[in-house]
Amino acid sequence: MDTAILVNLSYIASSILFIVGLKMLGSPDTARRGNFLSSSGMLLAVLITLLDQNIIDYRYIAGALIAGSIVGYFAATKVKMTSMPEMVAIFNGFGGIASLLVGSAEYVSGSFDSPAFLGAIFLTVLIGGMTFTGSLIAYGKLSEVISGKPYLYKGQQFVNGLLLIVIMIVGVNMLFIQSYISAEQTLMLLAFLAFLLGILFVIPIGGADMPVVIALLNSFSGLAACAAGFVILNNVLIVAGALVGASGLILTNIMCKAMNRSLANVLFSGFGAAPDTAAQSTEEQGEVKPITAQDAYLILEAASSVLIVPGYGMAVAQAQHAVRELGELLEDNGAEVKYAIHPVAGRMPGHMNVLLAEANVSYDVLVEPEDVNPIMETVDVCIVIGANDVVNPDAKDNEGSPIYGMPIIEVDNAKTVFVSKRSMASGFAGIQNPLFFKSNTRMLFGDAKETVSTLVSEFKG
Ligand code: NDP
Repeated sequence: MDTAILVNLSYIASSILFIVGLKMLGSPDTARRGNFLSSSGMLLAVLITLLDQNIIDYRYIAGALIAGSIVGYFAATKVKMTSMPEMVAIFNGFGGIASLLVGSAEYVSGSFDSPAFLGAIFLTVLIGGMTFTGSLIAYGKLSEVISGKPYLYKGQQFVNGLLLIVIMIVGVNMLFIQSYISAEQTLMLLAFLAFLLGILFVIPIGGADMPVVIALLNSFSGLAACAAGFVILNNVLIVAGALVGASGLILTNIMCKAMNRSLANVLFSGFGAAPDTAAQSTEEQGEVKPITAQDAYLILEAASSVLIVPGYGMAVAQAQHAVRELGELLEDNGAEVKYAIHPVAGRMPGHMNVLLAEANVSYDVLVEPEDVNPIMETVDVCIVIGANDVVNPDAKDNEGSPIYGMPIIEVDNAKTVFVSKRSMASGFAGIQNPLFFKSNTRMLFGDAKETVSTLVSEFKG
């Protein structure tokens, strides 16, 4: 068979594997197989591309493959679950710079000059470059290498607007005029402007919104790859890039909805910049009522319905196995046990689902906030484990709160609420939580794993 036909048929097979794999990621039952299918599609695409005769010296490819695999292996095995968003940010950045390099190499080779090809190169370099620096800033903010505070200054919109105009002028010169400066100079200037745009785009956004920004940058890295696919006329790169671009956008939208905020609000409002005037000081809110795990056990022992609400603190404490054990003991004791998962609990979408799946908590007992909120009054005890913002009643009661409007798990309506956390410290949004001061709330101070393990020991007698 003609090599070109074989290559294209294999690319179609890869694309089908990507799409079917993506579809299967939609349910926890099929997600692992879906991931395997998509990775197999990628392996097929890489192997076929290598077999294609247009490839440079195999020794370069082998060297890069080995170096990349070693770095990737150590990065993925060493990374803590709580640092996963930082890793995704870096990977997006690498995707962006890879596309930029592909576009640049083609441009410098000067093998074509039609505006359509040049347009694809322009987009590859622009989106790839801004994805790279934007992702580095997102990584820096999440890992606290740089401050997570939104950096806002006077005339910001003007500077950004000016930058976009300059980029457009460079683009028009690159596509249609091709004069004034050499191809290399044009490329360097465009790459510089793209890098600058990435920095200016992410720097005004607060650390708490970084997961949304990362989903968006993920989408950008896909679009850059898609544009690179048009530059080198590689069908599978176009398809894979478009899929990443679309799924990143869908994820961004889901996260914005879960926080009841528009994308424009996330990108341009500088969330977290203003001092928190909405939150009252601890004294103004009243008294907190601590409880020991031993006393909490006595109440739990008599409960016939228990709702467990995990949050970021459960991930920090790695308490998921102890939580599963507690759930089983409560069920053995005759209680109905459910786990309420908020879409933005933790630091990445699906964070709680991943942890609970790792601890073998059945999917059947997981419930969404909209399912459980209407029946919250019937819940005897709600155990909040390291969650804070996602159970903050200010989101529904306090119009002045920065998180006002965000759908929450309304645990304050349960008969009794236990909150497991180490101190009165705030969550990611940096605001006080009136839940801790409610008359039906008892604070279980201490590390979540230790607290839950003590409850487990009490049940075991
Ligand atoms: P929060 O960040 O609001 O709160 C986590 C709480 O865990 C803290 O108050 C902390 O209190 C407690 N904690 C930390 N370590 C421990 C420990 N070892 N044991 C017990 N408690 C601990 O978490 P939520 O999950 O409620 O909310 C997630 C936040 O992240 C939201 O603001 C959301 O908007 C934001 N976000 C999440 C995204 C996602 O994709 N998941 C995306 C975008 C934003 P203390 O220090 O006192 O122990």
